[in-house]
Amino acid sequence: MAADFDFSGKTALITGAASGIGAATARWLDAHGITKLVLVDMNRPALDALDLDCEVRRIGGDVSDSALWKIGMAEVTDLDCVLLNAGISDAFPIVDGDLARWRKLMAVNLDGVFLGLRHALKVMRSKGGTIAVTASAAAFKAEPGTAAYAAAKAAVVQLARVAAREGAEHGIRVNAIAPGGVDTPIWDGMDFFADMTKSLGSREAAIASMGEIATPLGRYATADEIAAQIGFLLSDLSANITGAVLRSDGGYTL
Ligand code: NAD
Repeated sequence: MAADFDFSGKTALITGAASGIGAATARWLDAHGITKLVLVDMNRPALDALDLDCEVRRIGGDVSDSALWKIGMAEVTDLDCVLLNAGISDAFPIVDGDLARWRKLMAVNLDGVFLGLRHALKVMRSKGGTIAVTASAAAFKAEPGTAAYAAAKAAVVQLARVAAREGAEHGIRVNAIAPGGVDTPIWDGMDFFADMTKSLGSREAAIASMGEIATPLGRYATADEIAAQIGFLLSDLSANITGAVLRSDGGYTL
């Protein structure tokens, strides 16, 4: 294993760790020697089902709830790496926009990252560290129906950039990853995806078709690919990179 990719002796926190990109990153860090993982997700049974070799602390909770960060995470103070990744998806045209749906999405996808950054910047001040946030290609596109999601993700990009400025003097780097489509369960709650799955005969065919249509490279990513790129951002290999946005989208935003 390249020394720069060796996470032994380190502790990492991951939110949204029970599924998709978060779970893949937990497995990637585990495979790269991390000593301890603190995994947060509101889906406690799925969090409990993750099978990992390193020491693991599992915390069930909602990232948009400040009590989780103040009370549930009060003892989580020794962190080297943090991935703020928990997120939900929703789509509706602005003209039909329901304020409760808007607020729910903003609470999870934006407040959750703000609260996580606040915690991470506070506890990492003494010895530095690396933070990654999961934004989205939606931050750079204007697809109809994505107002809440796109606005939240664009705000997440700017939050990460400001956090990079505020963390720099303490040796804390903050970067964002902006994936395009990734094959994870996040699609399964979307009505249009259910329709595509039905008409094309399988979930795999629906993911393949979306990737082919939407991206110059002709495919969506796997969660494992995105996890490795997050691993790079959290590792010493990206030592001079802070405030960056890594677009990992098969050319979707070109
Ligand atoms: P996923 O649904 O597989 O995983 C998301 C996880 O977050 C789930 O385990 C869920 O329980 C958890 N979660 C949701 N709300 C939470 C809350 N309030 N508190 C704590 N945990 C919560 O989806 P994913 O695709 O792995 O998504 C991870 C991140 O990647 C999200 O921020 C998403 O917006 C972003 N993203 C995904 C894609 C994609 O195509 N899958 C593309 C770009 C960005």
